[in-house]
Amino acid sequence: MAASPSPAPSNFVRDIILDDLKTNKYEARVQTRFPPEPNGYLHIGHAKAICLDFGLADEFGGKTNLRFDDTNPEKEETEYVDSIQEDVKWLGFHWDGLFYASDYFDQLYQWAVKLIKAGKAYVDDLSAEEIRKHRGTLTEPGEDSPYRSRSLEENLDLFERMKAGEFPDGSRVLRAKIDMASPNLNMRDPVMYRILHAEHHRTGNKWCIYPMYDFAHGQSDSLERVTHSMCTLEFEDHRPLYNWFIEQLEIFPSRQIEFDRLNLTYTQLSKRKLLQLVEQKHVSGWDDPRMPTLSGIRRRGYTPEAIRNFCKAIGVSKTNGSIELAMLEHFVREDLNKRAPRAMAVLRPLKVVIDNYPQNQVEEMDAVNNPEDATAGTREIPLSRVLYIERDDFREDPPKGYYRLSPGREVRLRYGYLVTCTGVVKNEKDEVIEVHCTYDPATRGGNTPDGRKVKSTIHWVSAAHAIDAEVRLYQTLFTKEDPNDTKDGEDFTVNLNPQSLEVRNSAKLEPSLKNAPAGSRYQFERLGYFCVDLDSTPGKPVFNRTVALKDTWAKVEKKNQPPRN
Ligand code: ATP
Ligand code: MG
Repeated sequence: MAASPSPAPSNFVRDIILDDLKTNKYEARVQTRFPPEPNGYLHIGHAKAICLDFGLADEFGGKTNLRFDDTNPEKEETEYVDSIQEDVKWLGFHWDGLFYASDYFDQLYQWAVKLIKAGKAYVDDLSAEEIRKHRGTLTEPGEDSPYRSRSLEENLDLFERMKAGEFPDGSRVLRAKIDMASPNLNMRDPVMYRILHAEHHRTGNKWCIYPMYDFAHGQSDSLERVTHSMCTLEFEDHRPLYNWFIEQLEIFPSRQIEFDRLNLTYTQLSKRKLLQLVEQKHVSGWDDPRMPTLSGIRRRGYTPEAIRNFCKAIGVSKTNGSIELAMLEHFVREDLNKRAPRAMAVLRPLKVVIDNYPQNQVEEMDAVNNPEDATAGTREIPLSRVLYIERDDFREDPPKGYYRLSPGREVRLRYGYLVTCTGVVKNEKDEVIEVHCTYDPATRGGNTPDGRKVKSTIHWVSAAHAIDAEVRLYQTLFTKEDPNDTKDGEDFTVNLNPQSLEVRNSAKLEPSLKNAPAGSRYQFERLGYFCVDLDSTPGKPVFNRTVALKDTWAKVEKKNQPPRN
């Protein structure tokens, strides 16, 4: 069952399902599955598959299983099984059955025996290298293995002994006997079983032979009576094999449908490479807010709704392409704009003294919690004589087009008063360390009774009331649109962005944020959306910038600069 009730726009997968429903191919039933291998954490690419698998089943009153595709014991761990379940739930989906391919090891073994008995499978003693050589190429047919014509009895005996652990890893395999001249290389006697003396996260040491993906996936689908089995395009060439096993075994005819993998600019979506980033400590862990994992972007502050809306918008197609990261960020902003309460925070504080404001006076200023949500109400923010503003909001020599605070200029303090800059204090390095202003008491709340205009409104916090915080700002983890674009022999990590994390240790927040719980999200006015990190301590919150607001001034300034290479 999916969390979102609105149907997705039509796509070719949906059309196939509609067609099968019309022809009553599966007795008007829709059963899908999401089949992650528990060898890493789920990422935004998996979210696309999840939204498709669960979303389509839900649309047609069908069911979706979560199935762990755990046929590769060396790379799989319970930690991953747990994180995957957490992430699917977080995205807002609920599975019907929870299964493991390893639940089917006995049945798969029996089916392998059945194929041997039917003369459709044989034990091959060739090494992996020799098998590859015999396989031929796209233009040349393969060559039969000398073991291809073994007798049924010998095959049965050897397969039994493979299972019993008599042979070392890699010494023999079980292969399907199909066609060494097939134009589809996957049909040239593919390997069904390999010997692997490895402990499995669920079956322990019971097995030392493990089925290959192609001999496990379709049959698992079939056992679960999956009607539509969606997978990514690289499996298109495997579909004839998927169907071949189902036909030979005369089992439930699940239907494989391929769709395009999600590729995102500036983003690495290979689990193997994400694992490398974790193991080599380029990031703090699978849930580092720079990671494209669901646990990473959750910690960063992305919402499940934003991810689901994004997946709906990108749809599915039959050719691989690449989606702009900016599109994902658009959906995050769009969702947070509706739900995130506003707050005032200053990331690089500059002290402002309002000289004509009474020494010990504190006023509570009314602030709107969310202009997009009338039910969100208002709160009070203290204002006093000494404030902090953003360093970027003051320029001693303002360039043309810069309308924020500068000597002689009047600006509006958001929800506060109009203030005019009267002077600055500098240190020995000629840096401005304090700005002096006067305020107009007639402009409380930022109103101008005489209707005079000010061009700029800036945010602030009261120095005496501010909370100290650490704020983590992020850029893309990679400097290249395609993080895998490297020269020969270079590792993709050469494209890591050394500036992907910037820590601001001396941020100042409005006092209402004092006890914000980890995971809560805010819009810091004019700065972007921020989420409380789990590294927060009672005295010192830590905030992650989820995504910036579009900063119009930064854009103007950038445009005026010569392009940098
Ligand atoms: P990797 O090759 O990085 O390990 P995978 O495809 O093997 O990824 P699985 O755990 O097998 O990862 O994936 C589970 C499901 O999610 C599969 O159906 C797979 O096709 C789908 N999936 C994985 N990555 C993407 C992606 N980038 N876009 C869309 N679907 C994906
Ligand atoms: Mg896989």
